[in-house]
Amino acid sequence: MNILIATTNRGKQKEYSELLADLPWELSFPGPEKDNPDLENGLTFRENAVSKARHYARTGKVLTLADDSGLEVDALGGRPGVFSARFAGHSGPEGKDEANNARLLRELGDLPREKRGAAFRCVICVTDPAGRLLVVEGILRGYINFKPRGQNGFGYDPLFMIPELDRSVAELPPGEKNRISHRGRAVAELKKKWPEFSRTLFPSP
Ligand code: IMP
Repeated sequence: MNILIATTNRGKQKEYSELLADLPWELSFPGPEKDNPDLENGLTFRENAVSKARHYARTGKVLTLADDSGLEVDALGGRPGVFSARFAGHSGPEGKDEANNARLLRELGDLPREKRGAAFRCVICVTDPAGRLLVVEGILRGYINFKPRGQNGFGYDPLFMIPELDRSVAELPPGEKNRISHRGRAVAELKKKWPEFSRTLFPSP
């Protein structure tokens, strides 16, 4: 079965390739020229994931998976949330993560560790060209460190600490992030709900 993974973010593309490797799915990805910020104008992750998935499914006439994800910081009242990718106002991919991380550190200043709680949230939507929808969510809780640690992952990973492991997400070996991450948890939920949903896509004769 062919499914379009509607993200141009290379970090996410790599993670989905690993997370979905055990399914009999043929994955394809949109080219970078397909990036469409107008599809991410919603006020919730769910709204954005659904609007992205619907757009790509209709225009490509293909079963599509889209997600919206981001960082919610307790001390910032849940910001940057749906604005995570644009937190520092950077538009192009070059240097965007560094600028976002620098702004996050600046906003949190010297708040003590117990006030630096945060969550990564991921909402995934799968839809077909007829508009049938499956929506799932995954969350990872942790706290924001005082300086970046580690080289793996992308985005806010070097600042996001997992207290139980005393490591940042960017310090986790490949594969380990997917096992515990917000995206990994949303995909686990998707796999649980897939058998029932897929029966609505391909009703038996
Ligand atoms: P999206 O492509 O609109 O979902 O943007 C998500 C943004 O949230 C990314 O650009 C990152 O800044 C941040 N983000 C989402 N998931 C992760 C993750 O797994 N690690 C680090 N940052 C993430």
